[in-house]
Amino acid sequence: MAPTSPPIYHTSLLTAIDARSHVHLIIGSNSLAATRVTQSLASGARPILISPASADSQPLHHILESHISSGTLIYHPRPVTENDILTLGRPEINGIVDAVFITSPDLAQSKRISDFCKRNRVPVNVVDAPALCTFSLLSTYTDGPLQIGVTTNGRGCKLASRIRREVAASLPTGMGEACGKWGEVRRRIQDEDKAATEKRKAVDSSVEVDEGVDDSVDQTAAFNKLVTETEAEDAKTRRIRWLSQVCEYWPLKKLVEVGKENIEAVLDAYHASSANSQQDQLIEQQSLPSKKGLLILAGSGPGHPDLLTRATHRAILSADLILADKLVPSGVLDLIPRRTPVSIARKFPGNADAAQEELLTSALAAFNEGKTVLRLKQGDPFLYGRGGEEVDFFKQRGLGHRVVVLPGLTSALSAPLFAGVPVTQRDVADQVLICTGTGKKGRPPTPPEWVGSRTVVFLMALHRIGGLVAELTGYTADEEERGKKERGLWPVDTPCAVVERASCPDQRVIRTTLRHVEEAIEAEGSRPPGLLVVGRACEALYTPDKDRNWVVEDGFAGLELDGVRDIGV
Ligand code: SAH
Repeated sequence: MAPTSPPIYHTSLLTAIDARSHVHLIIGSNSLAATRVTQSLASGARPILISPASADSQPLHHILESHISSGTLIYHPRPVTENDILTLGRPEINGIVDAVFITSPDLAQSKRISDFCKRNRVPVNVVDAPALCTFSLLSTYTDGPLQIGVTTNGRGCKLASRIRREVAASLPTGMGEACGKWGEVRRRIQDEDKAATEKRKAVDSSVEVDEGVDDSVDQTAAFNKLVTETEAEDAKTRRIRWLSQVCEYWPLKKLVEVGKENIEAVLDAYHASSANSQQDQLIEQQSLPSKKGLLILAGSGPGHPDLLTRATHRAILSADLILADKLVPSGVLDLIPRRTPVSIARKFPGNADAAQEELLTSALAAFNEGKTVLRLKQGDPFLYGRGGEEVDFFKQRGLGHRVVVLPGLTSALSAPLFAGVPVTQRDVADQVLICTGTGKKGRPPTPPEWVGSRTVVFLMALHRIGGLVAELTGYTADEEERGKKERGLWPVDTPCAVVERASCPDQRVIRTTLRHVEEAIEAEGSRPPGLLVVGRACEALYTPDKDRNWVVEDGFAGLELDGVRDIGV
């Protein structure tokens, strides 16, 4: 059975509101009203409670009573009116309240108030009535300045609260305090940078005054200490980068421990950082613009960001410049920090060489500025990725010793796997061949001969599937002409699979045979990038439906490790 495509859920815009001095109107008298009052007070807002105090209405919850008597809660014992919403708020916003929370079970009143709030753009929340709300509250965990909020967007608050508990439990004790301490470090660095910039400006202006003076006499000490704009900028970004690297890589426990020490010690740790830990050394080497540039050539895997290696992920986080190939999947590009400049190769048919040249030239320029440049490629960088040519380019310029190549999971082997095709299997296939369907300058490459126990994977082949199948199953005009008809031809009923966008949410697999594959692609259309796997391995774990010429399977569930794993068999 073909897997159904995953449902698309609506998600909310999560924000954190600074509610200090806001006026919250809370309608009700029960324990939920008490909870809202407590939440409102915790956020620094001023809650106002309205609920009728008639004999037949519910008595006020004892927490509400105690807030009223201590003066932290204003109480109006009467039914709510529309006018309350427009008049009880802060004078600076003309008396409109900042938010309304309805906790009373009176549905007719809730509807009326909610409609009024919506018309007047006052945020409103009604307990257990999602349709009447313009916002919902998260299940929250608070520890000092750290807050974690979870929502399932109406799918169940119990579940949200369980998830929130599990997330919070996974944090080391003292995380909130550590957030506070690290925030201070950040502020200190920013303040010092600001002071340094101002000092530099002052020095710069004194230099202007000195202009024209014989520089052998009367030189100020500051003149000698003059730092250039770029050096100062480098030093600035270096410290902030150090901080973000530390936050990114240090285990949370270490962040908590270090955060407990005084801030001076933390800043000193910056200067002495790499001394005692290998991990820190790596951070230093990879993130700080040293005088020497570094070129990292890395593969990003077939598509899903979870298929990146840790080394490549680290390179993504620490590079000064990223030059990515067009095929690098968006899930991977999403991991690039916002501050890192990225350029994506403008390769299209006919200009691949020019785009490659452009990319290598900008890599070289950044390298010469002492930057760490990441050339990010799709799959594995050396497998039909021109990675070898790039290493050669840098070697020829004497930079071979500053090039690091990181492997990637190739689509040639992972796409068949995600399509449930074991490329080798005892008694089915004992060898694998990876080929390209497109030769140099667009000419077809020599077709591989048929070997019954071989699985063949063709990359860059689907756009000329008809030609490829003809070459595999028959002799080429050239072979006919030269009378060279020794190559083993492929039986037209050899099973094959077209695997497109492997490991992406829109992965698609078409299972068929060489006889029908061209027709299947024509009928189903293409979803690049895709490849073709041919050989008996395609039916090692899959039994074809004799009544159908091809079967289409849509969707990707290959990394759902928690569920029962069905690889489309
Ligand atoms: N270096 C890459 C291959 C680059 S050639 C690697 O190791 O994967 C580009 C070809 O790879 C595409 O034409 C297509 O045939 C194949 N390809 C890349 N990503 C793919 C994916 N997610 N699913 C299926 N095929 C893919």
